[in-house]
Amino acid sequence: MLKETVNFIRSTFKTQEDFIPLHEPRFVGNEKKYVLDAIDSTFVSSLGKYVDQFEEMMCEITGAKYAVATVNGTNALHLALILAGVEANEEVLTQPLTFVATANAISYCNATPHFVDVDKDTMGLSPSLLKKHLDNIAEIKEGKCYNKITGKRIAACVPMHTFGLPIYMEELIAICNKYNIPVIEDAAESLGSYYKNKHTGTFGLMGTFSFNGNKTVTAGGGGAIVTNDYNIAKRAKHLSTQAKTPHKWDYKHDEIGYNYRMPNLNAALACAQLEQLEFYVKNKRELSDLYFTFFKEFKEINLIRETADSTSNYWLNAVLLNDEKARNEFLEFTNSNGVMTRPIWGLMNNLKMFKNCPKGDLSNSDWLEKRIVNITSSVRI
Ligand SMILES: *Cc1c(COP(=O)(O)O)cnc(C)c1O
Repeated sequence: MLKETVNFIRSTFKTQEDFIPLHEPRFVGNEKKYVLDAIDSTFVSSLGKYVDQFEEMMCEITGAKYAVATVNGTNALHLALILAGVEANEEVLTQPLTFVATANAISYCNATPHFVDVDKDTMGLSPSLLKKHLDNIAEIKEGKCYNKITGKRIAACVPMHTFGLPIYMEELIAICNKYNIPVIEDAAESLGSYYKNKHTGTFGLMGTFSFNGNKTVTAGGGGAIVTNDYNIAKRAKHLSTQAKTPHKWDYKHDEIGYNYRMPNLNAALACAQLEQLEFYVKNKRELSDLYFTFFKEFKEINLIRETADSTSNYWLNAVLLNDEKARNEFLEFTNSNGVMTRPIWGLMNNLKMFKNCPKGDLSNSDWLEKRIVNITSSVRI
């Protein structure tokens, strides 16, 4: 079964010997042309036409009214949390099963992540378990939500669409609305993923994206905040450019800002990549279908698939193994045979920085952590 898996991945990626990475970028479009053009224009930093073009393309793709380009996905999240009004000594709800950047960004605000369990099918924040948890521990005072146990304000909720699989967004928004908690979607992994035909990242107050080298579309490094709120978008751009007020020559700043704006050089790469997003997602969805047909033969390996109302970009394909031992054997065999696979992240609440953070029952996350493995998912050219 393990041998068949390695052989199948090798035949799918048409290489019998070479090392096969988990996910590698492809540059077969206008990447070189646009990057060279950015260099020739001398606008390589945060001003330039590709930054504007990138933001327009992000609006077109996601359907959001506004998009603001940032240096990476982590600081897009940081900025979004600030814009949502998260302050020191407050709590931000999120899932323990995520990449560390989600929890780190919350910490940059001197706020504390508050971990709530995921659903087993989406591997993302569970609306029903969030409701149960909030009904237990939360209260509303003067229109704001507080944790009755810690006495701290619950200032925001950051769900994450794990590996591109959309979570149950409508249900999540309904619960957060009930408790007056603004939602910021960490859509770093879900560019090109839809829930009920609406792009992920556009359900909450803001959504954030990443254009890191391992993501579906890369800028080398890059991020974006999308929102339908004009004032938030305006302030996002302002804060990401050192809060400099417009003036022909003078330095005037009206609050503490950040140097978080995406450089034009990276935006040039991102624009060329975004032009290929549709092709990438189609290619990835076909790969998921191929895996699905293949793994159907084996009861011990289950491919994770999108839920009924969602369309996943299948950024990283994932398989569910029977237990931790089977998971370790799978990782050992594939990696020692030149096919890179990787376990899902360790839970955030087990990291020493976050081990004392408030949390609900995390049984589903614990269960998934021991069983999920990512398998080769690059676009096949
Ligand atoms: C990649 C990623 C980020 C951070 O993006 P960077 O661009 O690497 O800073 C944030 N959250 C999640 C879930 C990610 O996968």
